Amino acid sequence: MVNQGLKRAVFFDRDGVLNQAVVKEGRPCPPADSDSTVVTPGAGDLLLKLKAQGYFLCVITNQPDVARGTRTKENVRAINDKIMVNLPLDDLKVCFHDNKDNCACRKPKPGLILDAAKEHSLDLTSSWLIGDRASDIEAGRRAGCQTILLDFNYSEPGPANPPDYTCSDLKSAVARILKESHMTSVSSLKVKLFADGADRAGMLEMYANPLIKGFTTNPTLLRKAGVTDYEAFARDIVKAIPDRSLSFEVFTDDFKEMEKQAKYIGSWGPNVYTKIPVTNSCGEFSGPLIRRLADSGVKQNVTALTSLSQVAQVSQCLAGGPPAYVSVFAGRIADTGRDPVSLMAAAVEILALNPNIELIWASPRELYNVFQADSVGCHIITATNDILKKLSLVGKDLLEYSLETVKMFQSDAEAAGYKFAL
Ligand SMILES: [Mg+2]
Repeated sequence: MVNQGLKRAVFFDRDGVLNQAVVKEGRPCPPADSDSTVVTPGAGDLLLKLKAQGYFLCVITNQPDVARGTRTKENVRAINDKIMVNLPLDDLKVCFHDNKDNCACRKPKPGLILDAAKEHSLDLTSSWLIGDRASDIEAGRRAGCQTILLDFNYSEPGPANPPDYTCSDLKSAVARILKESHMTSVSSLKVKLFADGADRAGMLEMYANPLIKGFTTNPTLLRKAGVTDYEAFARDIVKAIPDRSLSFEVFTDDFKEMEKQAKYIGSWGPNVYTKIPVTNSCGEFSGPLIRRLADSGVKQNVTALTSLSQVAQVSQCLAGGPPAYVSVFAGRIADTGRDPVSLMAAAVEILALNPNIELIWASPRELYNVFQADSVGCHIITATNDILKKLSLVGKDLLEYSLETVKMFQSDAEAAGYKFAL
């Protein structure tokens, strides 16, 4: 989780990471001068990908040859300038000392990182360090960053404390950070993700994903999935998914019969919520039934709401009862040309008076609805597996996506054998 107001960063060691090191007797050394400095091939594009995800990019480099008198500060600065000009970096911090100086900045001490964090308001716990030597990894670790070692098989001891990851090159290190960054942005969502479906295999696939906190079904989905024995299907699912929320709907128009069914469905397991439509098919409000069920301790998921007045009425019927959901069909609202976001935000406010009730954003039309639901404080969004599978695209590089799209058009045109008679 990124702390409010603080940026996350990637810290790079210089020699061996951003420019090719000169390896002498198995140990990496800086290049002789700026003319002979070779920037790591592809580094520019890789750093741009990190920038696109909001990372602050900073070099931290030990240059003890200056303290040893074998190199001038001007020489070091000329090499640094070449790197800064060629790569989209935000800052570069250098230590010119040697061990005998006992400074606070020479890696493995974290001084350079801590200075950068203070100067640029960086959140170190969500930041990364990429280095090719033990002292880099130790400095990153001491600063509280996640660390990646680029392992080039130097003839020197590796880090005493293992890095979080070891990679063979800068490209795979950046890929690792982008992957973790994606997971963080999805797992830091406050809205709970539910899977909406009635296909057993699909439900179990989603159950394997810890991000999916519950499941909803409805008679339309059950019919579509070819379920003929509703109770057998539901009991099998309760057995297979005993520890996450499950919603099953009643299937009758008669309120008395609905009450019986609701109590029966509720008896299938402590994690089962009974779905009650907000009205019967004659348009009669289910409120009195909802109140009776709440009074008898049945966990309900009141469904098919499309208006704030319905939210207000239903919340009064559920108030003070057991945990309950109110499902507002935001996608259907959007289908009518109305803005579901402001309506859902208002629904959150209405329900805020009743801590036992959670709002479900139902019938989402696209993955972006997950972020909209999150931003208005909606408690839950229930989406089909097709939409939930798009979570893997969150944070994807848009230029990369553009290129993939062009390639898809090209390969489909080729496969179809389209030709002009030119
Ligand atoms: Mg290095």
